[in-house]
This record gives sequence, C-alpha cells and structure tokens, in this order.
Amino acid sequence: MSHESQVLSEPTQVPRTELVVIGSGPGGALTACLAAEAGRDVLLLEEGPYIAPDRTPPFTRAEMIEKYRCGGITVAMGAAKVTYVEGCCVGGASEINSGLYHRTPPEILAEWRDQLGAQHLRVEDLEPHFAALEHELSVGNLPGPAPLASLKLRDGATALGWRAIEAQRWFQYHAEPGLPPTKQTMTRTFIPRFLAAGGKLLPNCRIDRLRRDGSQWRLSCVYLDSDGPKSSTIHAPDVFVAGGAVQTPALLQRSRIASRAGRRLRLHPTLKVVARFPEQVNSLDMGVPVHQVPHFAPRYRFGCAISSPPFLAIALNDHPDHEHDLANEWPRMACYYAMTRGGSGSVRTLPYYRDPLVRYRLNTSEIAELSEALVQLCRCLFAAGAETLFPTIAGCPTLRSPADLEKLASYVVEPRLNLTTVHLFASCPLGEDRQQCVVDSFGRVHGVPHLHLADASMLGGPTSVNPQATIMALARRNVLDYLQGGSDPS
Ligand SMILES: Cc1cc2nc3c(=O)[nH]c(=O)nc-3n(C[C@H](O)[C@H](O)[C@H](O)COP(=O)(O)OP(=O)(O)OC[C@H]3O[C@@H](n4cnc5c(N)ncnc54)[C@H](O)[C@@H]3O)c2cc1C
Repeated sequence: MSHESQVLSEPTQVPRTELVVIGSGPGGALTACLAAEAGRDVLLLEEGPYIAPDRTPPFTRAEMIEKYRCGGITVAMGAAKVTYVEGCCVGGASEINSGLYHRTPPEILAEWRDQLGAQHLRVEDLEPHFAALEHELSVGNLPGPAPLASLKLRDGATALGWRAIEAQRWFQYHAEPGLPPTKQTMTRTFIPRFLAAGGKLLPNCRIDRLRRDGSQWRLSCVYLDSDGPKSSTIHAPDVFVAGGAVQTPALLQRSRIASRAGRRLRLHPTLKVVARFPEQVNSLDMGVPVHQVPHFAPRYRFGCAISSPPFLAIALNDHPDHEHDLANEWPRMACYYAMTRGGSGSVRTLPYYRDPLVRYRLNTSEIAELSEALVQLCRCLFAAGAETLFPTIAGCPTLRSPADLEKLASYVVEPRLNLTTVHLFASCPLGEDRQQCVVDSFGRVHGVPHLHLADASMLGGPTSVNPQATIMALARRNVLDYLQGGSDPS
C-alpha cells in the first residue's frame, strides 16, 4: 500500500481529529473515504490488523485464523445454537466474504418504512447510491460460464420449475490470461482511496468506551504495540460507529449510550447441506458459486456456499463417519444452504468479559419454516443429480433419495440443528419511531448529537438477500447528508 505514513501504529500520533470512524468494514471504510475526500480530517480506527489483500489465499484455514473474529468461533446461544462469523481486520468482513451483490428488495424497504416509521427509505432515495456502488465496485455477472457446483443448483431448480438467478458480484476481471479475478474488498477500494485523500488509519486499536466531554467525544482505546496492549484516548467532535451488528451495540452499552442498543438482533438462520455428485463439481480454484434460488423469497432462499476443502470439512462435522471421504471425494462435493429470515435475539455486554453474550431463538413456526426450506433444498439437489446429501444436523442420517426426505423433518428439532449465519443486522434499527429505533433514517443516534452509526447494526431487519450492498448504500446516503450539513434533529 502506498501512503504508508498514514497507517499509524499508536493513537498518540493523532490524539485529536475532526472525525473518527470506528470500524473499517464496508460501512466504516466507505464513510471514512467519502468524508476524507470531502476534505475532512478523518481517523479510521480498526480493532483487527491490516493484512495486505493478496497475502492470504481466500477461504483457507489461514484466512480464518488471520481475519476472522476469534478464528471464526463465535456463537449465538439459544435452544438451537447459531454459529456466526465476523471479520476482524482492516476491511472487516468484506475481506473474507463471497462478494455477492443485491440491491435491497423494495418490499423489504416498505416493511421498514411501515414497521419502524423509517422515512426517506423509498427505492428512489437509495437508487443513486446503489448505482454509484455498482460502478465503484465493478459489480457484474461472471464473464464466462458459472462453476459446475453453481450450475447444479440452477439445473435442479429448473427441473422443478423454480426460478434460479445468477447473483452479481463485486469482482474485477483481468484481460491478461492466468490472472485471477480480484474481489473488490475495502482494502482494494475505499481504504486506498481514503489514504490517498489524506485519511489516517490506525489498525490494532479497539475502542472500549465513548464519553461526551463538552464539545468533544473522548474515546478510550486499547492498542497493540510491541510490548503488548496499551491504553490511550482520542478526542473528536463527531464520531461514526461502524463495528458491525454485534460490536456496535456492545460499544454503545459499555458507554451507557442508547438504552435500546442490542435489545434485539436479527440474522438469517442458515442450514447447510453437503451434496455429493457422481461427477466432478468442485476444484481448488472454483471460488464461490453464484447461483441462488429465490423461488420462495422472501420467506426463504437457497444458494451455494463456499466449498473449499476446509469449509466442506466443517460442514461435514455432523457426519463423522464420512469425514474421511473428503480426502478423495471433495472434487465431487459442494456445499449449499437454505436461509430463512426467522427468529430474534439480543446482544448483551457482561461485567468483566470483553465479548458480549449473543442470544438467538426461533419459535415453532420459524423452525417449521426452516424445515420446509431444508426439504425443498434437498429436493432441488436430488433433482440436480446428487447421489448423497449430508445436512448439518446432529444425528441426521445421510440422504440417498427423495424418499428419504419424508423423515428429514423429524430431525429438524432445535437441539440437533447446527445453524450458521454470515448475515447479522438490526441490533440498532433505523427509523423515526423512537420507541423501537436507536437511530433515525440517516443513522443519527436518537437523542445523542454528533454520534452516528454506519454499519449492519442500523438495518431495519433481515434483508432476505446478501446484505452488504444495503449497508453500503445507506452509509453512502447518510454520510453525504452529514457532509452537506444534514440537520441534527437531536
Ligand atoms: C464469510 C462471509 C461471507 C459473506 N458473504 C457476503 C456476500 O457474498 N454478500 C454480502 O452482501 N454480504 C456477505 N457477507 C456479509 C457482509 O460481509 C457483512 O454484512 C458486512 O461486511 C457488514 O459490514 P459492516 O460495515 O457492518 O461491518 P463489518 O464488516 O462487520 O466490519 C466491522 C469492523 O469493525 C471492527 N470493530 C468492531 N468493533 C470495534 C471497536 N470497538 N473498535 C475498533 N474496531 C472495531 C471489526 O474488527 C471489523 O473489522 C458475508 C460475511 C461473511 C463473514
């Protein structure tokens, strides 16, 4: 990275600044970049390390250890546990995600307007911001045929008369032969732009608490130097928090700001199925398959999951008798998911613990919906020619034909489910209804002047599609409003 002198190693190098952005994921990186490009003096703080985008091969164990929060071992507790994953590095989860792009479905925006009184969330309010992002992140379809594992999902859906789509992605494709496509992560896009505009980035620095001192925010932080962790403080009149759906409400709770923060949390509960086909469908350079089946949306959707050997091994945990098959048979295997919108949870900080307690629960009808989604996904995979299916459910037998699906629902009971998610949101929802919402439609924290949110926490609820574009479009609209002096209603 050029502009190396702007990547700082300790907070004492910038004890005061005009604007601080906490968290460098898609929401934070975009916010910091546009503010710096508008001439503001901006410090972008990130708990995780800065890792050059090409250093670690994607979807490997090494990537999990370097870039995932707690190496990927993070769980929402409940009758059915939900293993969730977050990025913890410069660029946040944009560095580790699949790069699948969707605009927010209009019916979801309508839901947030109706249920949360969220004004200024019409399709036309966000349209210019989606259009700008599509240009800036090179969003588009694959230039060639989709991977074989992806085509299997499409073929299964087509055979059943269901609609399948190729999701667009934020990737750049190169004319030179042999050069792999590059995912447009934050460290390849908005972070270099931010530094080029004069912004300062401080990795390895976690904000522990915020306090308003007269006209300034006082940020207590812990940063890593060569002797280990050290404490310091930073001052700024304006702060944007963009730590993600779990860490943002935790920071607000530690700071005793916004009593509603973290009282609820939403996510996309996801069940996975490994499918083994008679022929090869997977390869080391496959990347992420792109097909999705929105036939049953917005209730649930199917798609293709990351299927590199380490991810297949995790997905086969519930089938220990078949784990040894992986060594020889992984080229014939790929992983798929059924994702619903059900359930509700919370984020709570605990005294003396660094990480918050995350809880999630689904009611009986939400479990039934998950069960229906799983059965339909399995039907689709059998229709695509799968010979064996391995659902991520403890004690569930392998499925060898559509006839086996009759008993599948009896295994979809909470203690057995190994639910996962990579989509968490809505822990500090946006809207003008102060009884329910932490921020207004422009991300300004109700009742707390000069404090803004710019990440997944402010979404109104599940998007039913991959959520990063929604987060970025809202963050873009909101920071531009702030830069134009958008009135602070508090
Ligand atoms: C494996 C995976 C695959 C995914 N695939 C897709 C996909 O294909 N398409 C899609 O749209 N979405 C996808 N997502 C989801 C998407 O990446 C996230 O929704 C998005 O990154 C959230 O953005 P964010 O700005 O809220 O914060 P995050 O990306 O969560 O980043 C927040 C950053 O803030 C830092 N931070 C937190 N607290 C503090 C603190 N107190 N002090 C300093 N720093 C702090 C964190 O370390 C982190 O780096 C995927 C996610 C994962 C994990």
